[in-house]
Amino acid sequence: MRINVSQQLKASIGSIRNYEVSGIVDITGGGSMVQGEVRLMRTDRSILAKGTLHTEVEVTCSRCLSLFSCPLTLNIEEEYFPTTDVISGASLPLPEEPSCFTIDEHHVLDLTEAIRQYALLAIPMKPLCREDCAGLCPNCGHNLNQGPCDCLPQEIDPRWSELNKLALASNEQKGTE
Ligand SMILES: [Zn+2]
Ligand SMILES: [Zn+2]
Repeated sequence: MRINVSQQLKASIGSIRNYEVSGIVDITGGGSMVQGEVRLMRTDRSILAKGTLHTEVEVTCSRCLSLFSCPLTLNIEEEYFPTTDVISGASLPLPEEPSCFTIDEHHVLDLTEAIRQYALLAIPMKPLCREDCAGLCPNCGHNLNQGPCDCLPQEIDPRWSELNKLALASNEQKGTE
């Protein structure tokens, strides 16, 4: 996720370079494989990184609570400001924007932090392991994606079956009238 941009910093404004990136980024505690393409463009004050990256993170299904791998697509667009002049080696003042991304003194542009931030935003609020996740049985907690649990046949409250008998009895009485 680290790209040396010293040559591009010397290039003219508007010059573009494309990079295939692939590497492991720590997003939610574990390492996630990130792959994709990034286009770097030299601007008058920075390098603009734009690209589409793909990764997967382990998340917990909000319905059945099982861990699953959730694929994420990250559309990244960030400006990276040089901290050191590529020709003179002098330190450069940073722009006013707080929390802007920077290119280090070795002219390395590191995409890791942007990828981490975009990935965290891309994780759904209520992840589902699959669209039709059956969830857990409210009675015994069994994961219904793995088939029905033993409570299903006993689901009818015995009091209801008593009422059913009464209803049947009254119907029979009506029939005899
Ligand atoms: Zn689920
Ligand atoms: Zn159950």
